[in-house]
Amino acid sequence: MVQKYGGSSVADADGVKRVAQRIVKTRKDGDQVVVVVSAMGDTTDELIDLASQISPAPPARELDMLLTSGERISMAVLAMAIATLGYEARSFTGSQAGVITDAAHGKARIIDVTPGRIRAALDEGAIPIVAGFQGVSQTTKDITTLGRGGSDTTAVALAAALRADVCEIYTDVDGVFTEDPRLVRGARRIPVISYEEMLELAACGAKVLIPRCVEYARRYEVPIHVRSSFSDKVGTWVNRHADDESEEAGMEQAIISGVAHDRSEAKITVVGVPDRVGEAARIFGKIAEGGINIDMIVQNVSALATGLTDISFTLPAADGQKALDLLRAAKDVIGFQEVFYEDRIGKVSLIGAGMRSHPGVTAKFFGALAEAGVNIQMITTSEIRISVVVGSADVDTAVIATHKAFDLDAEEVEAVVYGGTGR
Ligand code: ADP
Ligand code: ASP
Ligand code: MG
Repeated sequence: MVQKYGGSSVADADGVKRVAQRIVKTRKDGDQVVVVVSAMGDTTDELIDLASQISPAPPARELDMLLTSGERISMAVLAMAIATLGYEARSFTGSQAGVITDAAHGKARIIDVTPGRIRAALDEGAIPIVAGFQGVSQTTKDITTLGRGGSDTTAVALAAALRADVCEIYTDVDGVFTEDPRLVRGARRIPVISYEEMLELAACGAKVLIPRCVEYARRYEVPIHVRSSFSDKVGTWVNRHADDESEEAGMEQAIISGVAHDRSEAKITVVGVPDRVGEAARIFGKIAEGGINIDMIVQNVSALATGLTDISFTLPAADGQKALDLLRAAKDVIGFQEVFYEDRIGKVSLIGAGMRSHPGVTAKFFGALAEAGVNIQMITTSEIRISVVVGSADVDTAVIATHKAFDLDAEEVEAVVYGGTGR
């Protein structure tokens, strides 16, 4: 099996020793184990802060080189801790472990995994410890990182390449909950969840798993088991058969699996756009040129008197300035009047496969928001999700009201946050 330990699980020397014991126990129980580890505690954030003190725009290649050092520290000290328990552990960088990526620094995609050295270490009876979140570019041979939270993806990719029967993700909470237990104390643990629902939760801000790792797991059918490294609780299974399993167990499939929120987006409104063919294509063509992903889009009905309309869309706040620059530079070509930027927004999403076949979910969601006095700015839906944009000051209220309206609160508080700073 593959076991991944997140930064909060190896935040200090005691954490590293505790995790080493857990790994050795797995081995003693007879399982072959490959370990993926993240940087200790908030190391990655601290390295980013350091870089920003030195340069306003550090070269992407060098930033990646810097950030990968966080995982190098944890893999080496973890291997040492295992050695003190009488087992041989060997640490490997992503590159040594055969994690081959494209050349996109800071957001590289894994294109192949060739874990020859990991297999050899296993065959020789050693426990391989792999640095998460990093790889090597197939073309430039430079060291790359996979984007924040990328150790989850490393773990699933290795599990797929090694045909492991499960990928265990150890973190600082007892599994996937109906909302982030840091925000909703009464959140309930989800025992099993399908890849589809987990993907929506992750994409909507539930950072317990990152979307790309869930996508990867779905493609290669790797079951993920999310649990705490601080307890022995049963955790959450993410797999293809989630629906069948709950049916077998005689449970009715829950209509709603959870609520998620995301404060990392911003909203751009392009005002006074002529209502004619090709305008939207011109606007979003510019945004695409910048390699910026957009999320929601709303176009207003054009005012009869002027023939002008407004288009609003959301995007990662980190890309806000770039998008504004691109649009302003093309103001004459596109032909709009003004552009407004707003980053005091947040997105609240309700996710559940059961909403496909249960009418009234939307009405109940919006009813709960109205009762809580929360104004909705934008709405989007997919088959199994409804998302709204609200003012950032309203996010907590909206989340708590929605969680309650759908009876997601646990009867007794069961969620424990064992570590981490939530950063
Ligand atoms: P790690 O360091 O192990 O990678 P992360 O901080 O990336 O840990 O992810 C774990 C955190 O995810 C939890 O501490 C919790 O605050 C947050 N989280 C957000 N949404 C959820 C959710 N629905 N269920 C569980 N945890 C969640
Ligand atoms: N250390 C990296 C980060 O903080 C990767 C990870 O934790 O998964 O984003
Ligand atoms: Mg994480």
